[in-house]
Parts: sequence; C-alpha cells; structure tokens
Amino acid sequence: MYRGLLGYYEATGNAKVLQALKRAFANLMEGYPKGQSNPFCVENSFSGHCHGLTIVDALCEMTAITGDETYEEYAVWLYENYSENRVSEEDMKIESLENPDYFWKDHGVHAYEHVRPVVIAAYRKPAYRHLLDQLLAKLPFYLTPSGGPVGDEWIGGRTANASTTGYEFCSVTELFDSYALLLEKSGQMVWGDKMEWLYYNAGMGMKHPTESSIMYCKNDNCYTANRHHHRGDVYADERYKYSPAHQTTAVCCVPNMGRLTPHYVQNMYHKEKDGFTAVLFGGSRFTYELDGVPVTVRQVTDYPAHLTVQFEVTAKHPVTFAFGIRKPRWATSMQVQEAGHEEANRYVIEKEWSGTQCFTVTFTCDVKMHTDFCKNLFVSYGPLLYALPIESEEHTIFTYALSPFREVGYESTQPERETWKIHEDDRASFRHQDTPDGNWQHQSITGHFWDGEKTIESTLVPMGGTILRKVTFPMEIGGKNA
Ligand SMILES: [Zn+2]
Repeated sequence: MYRGLLGYYEATGNAKVLQALKRAFANLMEGYPKGQSNPFCVENSFSGHCHGLTIVDALCEMTAITGDETYEEYAVWLYENYSENRVSEEDMKIESLENPDYFWKDHGVHAYEHVRPVVIAAYRKPAYRHLLDQLLAKLPFYLTPSGGPVGDEWIGGRTANASTTGYEFCSVTELFDSYALLLEKSGQMVWGDKMEWLYYNAGMGMKHPTESSIMYCKNDNCYTANRHHHRGDVYADERYKYSPAHQTTAVCCVPNMGRLTPHYVQNMYHKEKDGFTAVLFGGSRFTYELDGVPVTVRQVTDYPAHLTVQFEVTAKHPVTFAFGIRKPRWATSMQVQEAGHEEANRYVIEKEWSGTQCFTVTFTCDVKMHTDFCKNLFVSYGPLLYALPIESEEHTIFTYALSPFREVGYESTQPERETWKIHEDDRASFRHQDTPDGNWQHQSITGHFWDGEKTIESTLVPMGGTILRKVTFPMEIGGKNA
C-alpha cells in the first residue's frame, strides 16, 4: 500500500497523497513505537513475515521526499528488531553478517532484498559500516557470470556455478534495486556497471526473446527449458519453462519482471551536488530543474547495439551545472565531443548551458575473455555477455483463452554443444561483428571452440536474446596437435 501510494505521488505530485502517506507512516510508528515494541516477534516466522522488512524501502523514500530523517531512523530500528528476533530468513541479520564463516543459505529473494536495510543502516550509523563491508565482500561469490545471484529458490550454502545454481527472476529484480540504493547512497558509478550488467544479461536472458513470458528460474548455462531444471531430472519443476503468469508456482516473478525495466529507466540519472550524472544509457528523455530552470536531456541511441550516445541538452534559460557521464568499467576509452574533465569512472562537463546543445559520447571496448570461480571461460563485449546459442524444439504446454498468451517449453536439439570447450591457444580468436540493424540482440562474436577432437568455428550471440545456451566453457590445455 505504501509503495502504491508513493508511486502515485511520484507520478502526480498530488499533495493530498503525500499527506495521506505522512498520516499512514505516523500511524505505523505509533502502533509499533521505536524501542518499545517488538514487530518482528512472531511464533512461526515464515517467508511473508520476513518480506515485511522491505517496508524500509518506503521509509527510505519518505526521507528522500520530505527530508525528515525520522523515517530512515525508524527503518534502522526495524532492521535491528528483525535481527534480534527468531526469523526464518537469517542471511542478512546482524549476527550472520558479523560471522565471516557464515555461508548464505536461506531464500535468495529475501537475501537480495534485505541488502537494502543493511545499506540504510550502514549509511545512517557508522557502527554498522562493517556489516555492509562484509556483505559486499561476500556477494561476488554468489553471482554467476551474468550477475544472476544464486536463488533457485534457496541459496543453500552454495556459491555460484553457471551450470548448477539457478536464479529466480525476483532475485534479479531485488538485487537490481539493492544496487540502485547503493548507487544513491554512495554516488559510486561502479553500481551503475553492476545494474547494467545484471539487466542486460541475467534479466533479459530470462525473458522470452519474442513472446510475453519469462522463465521463473534459469541458469546461465541453460540446456533445457521444459519443466525440468536439468535434463533427466526425475521431478518436474514448473519454474523452468516460459509462462506469462507462472501461477503453477507463484505469481511473484512475472510482476517483478514488470518492475525491472521501469527501475532501469528510473535510475538512469543520479543527482549530484552541482548537477547530475547519466549513469545508464538508452533512448530516453529526462526532465529536471536546476536553480529554477527546466532542463531536458534526450539520449538518442540504439545502445547497447552500438556504444554511441548522442545527448541533446535543452535549458529554457542559461544555467550553469555539471553534467556527468558514467565511464563504464568495460570501456577501454571514452570520446566526448565536448570539453570536460575526467574523474574516477565519470566524465564531467561543467559549463553554462542554454538553448539546445548536442554532443556525442562514444565508448570503445574489446572482446574480453573472463574466468569464473569454477575456472571456466566466458566472453563479453561492452555491457553484453555472449553465449553459444543451442537450437531447440518448441513444446506448447498450455494455451490461454486470451491470445497470444501461452506457456511454452524447449528441448535441446544440439546436446553436443554442451561439451564444447575453448582451447588455450584459441582464447584470442574471438572477434566482434557489428550488425547495423540497431537490434542489440543481433550482435555477434565469432571464435574457435574445441569439441575434444577438432577446432570448430562458431558464433556467440548476446545472452540476453537466447533461450537455450552455453555461457561458460572449460579451458582445454595442450594436446591439440595430437
Ligand atoms: Zn519470484
């Protein structure tokens, strides 16, 4: 209810709604007074009870809108009270984070949404800073190459593996939102890199390339999508298919898919003391007010198909401000057709803006070969992770009365591709090919693979446009000329 009202207020600016929000939060804080009540004490804690901690999102937003810190302070107290109680989801509790040997084990979505109360607590109270440091030091071990966090659905003390640890769509959206809050609180552009990577790879890689449906759970290396996690599994798992609703499991991931792109758009610009920074790229229009002067920024681009963005800045009257542009970590260089200076991960143009002014930003990058925690190789170019597509047979599982919605599964017709490796001598063979049609899913990288006997030339495509695919490749060492 709070989120709905906040969204409505943000969209309309209706003062009556803000007044209603203030009354509603006053009522909450009166009903569960800080330090004198125990809201997270229940007899049998379960999932829904623990999702309740995300009320801190709304409290944080109230502080952002009103400047009243009471809301965020109350959020920190809720996190403390949550930590003191026996709850079913323990991974982000204070005592869990203080234990360096603790492996995350509970429901993934909870862990990644509970990052936010930790962020709020760490930025409010320096005494909690170590909790966030611990959390961020451990997080990379739970991320597959696409950025998808282990969450299929329980983490179960496992660290990430591209072939075995799946992730739920909800985990992706919740982690994205946690990165957005980290960006907001820290101002560090590195969180923009994480958001972009998670969105285009794990997020778009779960969405059907052409239909209105998603997989509820998916792996980076996905060899079947026909109601089984792995081919040959005895038990069916309805999470592993494409559905526009997923009511056979739970209608959580589909609505969370609906939030992911709006949240990407919502977080494209970051407010700075002396202006703002364009953090995320894509065709868009952004309006803002600086010293009472309305400013509009248009990004004209087919990013990430091409890594060039034309910025069109319109100021109604002359106004001086700093316009920052994130320098992505993957960029080997960044050419900006406008004088400015480089900062850590950011290019800043500080000047008087008036009328409409345009400038172009071009990022350059190389095909990059990475190694994951399982010592397997994977290939990227710019913000996109590339995958070997695996052809499949389509099986309609269920057709809804409302056209064109259906549930659909896919069985591999190219199982031999699952065993392909990359030979150590061929690591430099991968070349990016530009497809001029402006569709980022049509870009490709060609390179050499090793099937155990011979070298095969084949093509990788952005993971974000695939159904079945192989993302990671073991490295073959020696023995090629035998
Ligand atoms: Zn879900």
